[in-house]
Amino acid sequence: MVREILKLGNPKLYEVCGEVTNEEREMVKEWVKDLHDTLMDYRKTYGAGRAVAAPQIGVPKRLLYMYTDRPYVFINPVLTFPDEEVYELVDDCMSFPGLMVRVSRHRRADIRYLDENFEPRAMHLEGDLSELLQHEYDHLDGILATMRAVDNKSLILGQMKRDF
Ligand SMILES: [Zn+2]
Repeated sequence: MVREILKLGNPKLYEVCGEVTNEEREMVKEWVKDLHDTLMDYRKTYGAGRAVAAPQIGVPKRLLYMYTDRPYVFINPVLTFPDEEVYELVDDCMSFPGLMVRVSRHRRADIRYLDENFEPRAMHLEGDLSELLQHEYDHLDGILATMRAVDNKSLILGQMKRDF
């Protein structure tokens, strides 16, 4: 089901999300379906959007959904950085379409998580995927890209990134 995407300023976007528990396995299936439908609907409207975090549809759980070459489900992800190299990019978010923000992200990251079958997985991330999952992971801690602006002149209105 396509869900409403919570927008910048909604207090629910600034909450720290709780871990997904084993008892929530059945709920996860529903949430993932809703995240997929909502992401696809957003793409249809805006022509962009690679991933979405559960809190963006009002589910305060540590759950991410990404659709690139195929769908990926990240349950209770843990993100770490193998080195300190960072770079700047212009970021966007489904919670504030049309607003861009210049942020700094780690070039490389490692993510450990449970997949949709609750199997432990790990992935090494570079560049685009690294910055994307840092963005999504931040949502789980109530952090929006606007809060990562490199300075107070880094908000840009009226552009859309189209590189998913
Ligand atoms: Zn976002």
